[in-house]
Amino acid sequence: MSFPTDQELVPAGMRTAYCGALRSSDAGRSVSACGWVARRREHGEHLAFVDLRDHTGIIQCVVEGASDLRSEQVLRVTGTVRLRPEGTVNPALSTGEVELGDCEVELLSGAEPPPFSLDARAETDEAVRLRYRYLDLRTTRMQRNLRLRARLNSALRAAMERQGFVEVETPMLWTPTPEGAREFAIPSRLQHGSFYVLPQSPQIAKQLLMVGGLDRYYQIARCMRDEDLRADRQFEFTQLDIEASFVTQADIHQFVSGAVIEATIAVSGEAPPGIVTMTWSEALDRFGTDKPDLRFEMELVDLHDAVAGTEFKAFSSAAHVRAIRVPGGGDWTRSRLDSLVDRAVQLGAAGLVWMRVRAEGVMESPVAKFLSEVHQRQIVAATSAEPGDLVLIVAGERFRTSKVLGQLRLDLAQPAVSKRPYRFCWITEFPLFEGVDDEGHLIAAHHPFTMPHPDDIDLLETDPLSVRSQSYDLVLNGWELGSGSIRIHRADIQRRVFTALGISDEDAEARFGFLLAAFRYGAPPHGGFAVGLDRLVALLAGEDNISEVIAYPKTQSGADLMSGAPRPIGAKQLSELGIRIVPATHASSNARAPSGA
Ligand code: ASP
Repeated sequence: MSFPTDQELVPAGMRTAYCGALRSSDAGRSVSACGWVARRREHGEHLAFVDLRDHTGIIQCVVEGASDLRSEQVLRVTGTVRLRPEGTVNPALSTGEVELGDCEVELLSGAEPPPFSLDARAETDEAVRLRYRYLDLRTTRMQRNLRLRARLNSALRAAMERQGFVEVETPMLWTPTPEGAREFAIPSRLQHGSFYVLPQSPQIAKQLLMVGGLDRYYQIARCMRDEDLRADRQFEFTQLDIEASFVTQADIHQFVSGAVIEATIAVSGEAPPGIVTMTWSEALDRFGTDKPDLRFEMELVDLHDAVAGTEFKAFSSAAHVRAIRVPGGGDWTRSRLDSLVDRAVQLGAAGLVWMRVRAEGVMESPVAKFLSEVHQRQIVAATSAEPGDLVLIVAGERFRTSKVLGQLRLDLAQPAVSKRPYRFCWITEFPLFEGVDDEGHLIAAHHPFTMPHPDDIDLLETDPLSVRSQSYDLVLNGWELGSGSIRIHRADIQRRVFTALGISDEDAEARFGFLLAAFRYGAPPHGGFAVGLDRLVALLAGEDNISEVIAYPKTQSGADLMSGAPRPIGAKQLSELGIRIVPATHASSNARAPSGA
């Protein structure tokens, strides 16, 4: 990726050159560069090499009488660009052929010794880095990631605007939305006892924009969900949020695909392979997950036909028998195979059958004696296994077998997050409901405004769990990047879905009354999507933790180590808000939030 640094960036203000931009063609120029002392090395009695760093790179300055210069001091160095003497060229540096000589140094700002060395970022405790995040931000990695993020945002904006989308800002002080995650509440000073909530997403606001005739809306929106933090989840996150009227699911896919492809090219310089679409059901059967990583094969194979008629109980009595082939796994040791079996059991399988494929389709396995030669050959043929391969088989119920094999597939072969290509895929036809809660009500898989699949609407009352929805996810290299749906704009269908979810008319009125009221005044058919930008940036930057692409992330316990947030507030402010603090109970501080759509 190239940023407008080197030759394109025009220096101004106190500097006439950027540190990382100087080249041999600049030899003879007198320049002023500004930045931080990255390193100082003595060079004879009176001279020192001072490496000056700005966000574009490092320039070596030869400075006289520099004994009082220290790491991270801020300098303006004026000197003459000259070629380094032969044998001292540093090919690892973009400026490695030159240095600044005859330097005049102006100390712009002193610096205490930094609490960690920026060169030793990898060995530095994360808590120290986050406490002094402004120092961490000076590292090449953080500079690269934040600039990549800015470029991605700008490419996404351009792509959405090119497609006729208009950017609208929606409120941060809002009312509960239907994603289902726990919300952050903000007490109202003017109405004691009432609260705003921070939006989990602009879901309702953007649907109302469609009623308001905006037609195509987008926003790079901040969303807040008070859920447990993980490598791919922070309290606050950012999404490219869109909504459009008079469209089908295919139109939404086209808008979003166009934007993510353009943005990927803008930051990586590489066009990703074409985006494939598969149904939720197909993804589960082929990859054992609804977020398949398509960078590698090892697809799940259905052995139903291959083992038909076998007398081996574990297979004949199971609803599903599925396998994956591990190329070259045939020489794995017994202890490695035993730990695979343990892993499968831990993932919920009744057991795991392993078979080493020997010459001509002969299997070596603890269960080989229970399987006829014909069945063994059929398994080999079905999995396309070759001598030297390993075949792993799980038998049981559909979702369990695919989930276990899908996870083993990832355990055994998933490439590192930084490995290209970028394989985006659309997953469609998710079930409308994901199960039943303790009170016997169905649970919405996405959110309650998701339109059922047109072919399944009649099953809403008779066989609701089999109803497919018009919702869809975008997945990149095994990460769910976001989801969306075509919304219900008809009051009759909305009522049937609310009834299935156990939301009474009064309930619906109390929670979403203002949306339902708006729908009575002419709601266009509409649908939308949200792309999680923290995850997209992380993947494009090759990072497996989103905090590496966020300027000021929180720790797992929700703390901002730099600012000290969250902190107590003063008695005066509390009384203005009409709030009295009671000690936290164990239950309230540890309760888990349901996960959001
Ligand atoms: N509101 C959904 C989310 O934030 C996205 C959508 O349905 O547009 O996940």
